[in-house]
Amino acid sequence: MLELQVLIKIMGGCSNQRVLLLFPVMVMMVVLLLGTSPSRAELQKLKHTPRKADHQPLNILVVGDWGRQGTYNQSSVAYQMGVVGEKQNIDFVISTGDNFYDDGLTGVDDPAFYDSFVNIYTAPSLQKIWYNVLGNHDYRGDVEAQLSPILTQKDSRWVCMRSFILQAGIVEFFFVDTTPFRDDYFTDPGEHTYDWSGVLPREAYLSELLKDVDYALGQSKAKWKIVVGHHTIKSAGHHGNTVEVEQQLLPILKARNVDAYINGHDHCLEHIVDTESGIHFLTSGGGSKAWKGDIKPWNKQELKLYYDGQGFMTVQITESKADIVFYDIYGKVLHTWTLSKKLNNAA
Ligand SMILES: [Zn+2]
Repeated sequence: MLELQVLIKIMGGCSNQRVLLLFPVMVMMVVLLLGTSPSRAELQKLKHTPRKADHQPLNILVVGDWGRQGTYNQSSVAYQMGVVGEKQNIDFVISTGDNFYDDGLTGVDDPAFYDSFVNIYTAPSLQKIWYNVLGNHDYRGDVEAQLSPILTQKDSRWVCMRSFILQAGIVEFFFVDTTPFRDDYFTDPGEHTYDWSGVLPREAYLSELLKDVDYALGQSKAKWKIVVGHHTIKSAGHHGNTVEVEQQLLPILKARNVDAYINGHDHCLEHIVDTESGIHFLTSGGGSKAWKGDIKPWNKQELKLYYDGQGFMTVQITESKADIVFYDIYGKVLHTWTLSKKLNNAA
């Protein structure tokens, strides 16, 4: 660890710094990708090897709805993410999508990749892998560009796939591509153009995806199962619930006893506990532009936090508990919650 810190200081702003730091993780990911069978009904698996000794907590930071060339306070949120990321000694970052506004990337050479990502999240603590899903705004650009390994060559932190599993010891994250679920993007796109290459025919894509997620959750032996998607399932925010995802994905999450669903899309910070299923719905969509005062009525017993400003979330996970913390743009803690899991209890 000391060597790493020294290395960071010596390397300063050198572009090779991240490559060197992340090299072991990259090798592991390449090995796993090569070793993973592309057979159907199996989502691609990535393994995140913890930097710390066993039984140490896993620390992650979650941000969503961010890429605006630093505007709408994106840079200020990024600064606090760096401060909190340092304190929490985070292992990696999860992005809940809408990575580049307004219309995704134009291609792998779009300068927005630098202006909204590389040159914004510059803090040493954020030089970790970023696991990204796509949001609806990303689908308005060149989707293949965001999925391209060329971006990972430009910045080795960047990992973006449509749907995948991230195995991180006691916890597994199931990233789900939620944008193709929304009917109106297909039937009533208005002035927007969506890049559906790789998604059509839509019905087959969605039914295969749901089967894959169900199978993967059923196979998982992880203590904690957390699902990540861009769209809301339960939200009191501007967009509210995403009916299609609620109808099609939520029954699987309930049947497979997932602990939490993490999303963006609504530009707020929010925590809803579904009293029926016990699933925690966590919205971290405050990476840049927020929507002040945009809230719908919700059962007060379920709505534990609704914050209509910018910010982000951290989760610290051990075998027995997961500590969730939401922060505003000043780094002030807005809300904390602890999920407990009985030891020796089946996951
Ligand atoms: Zn969105």
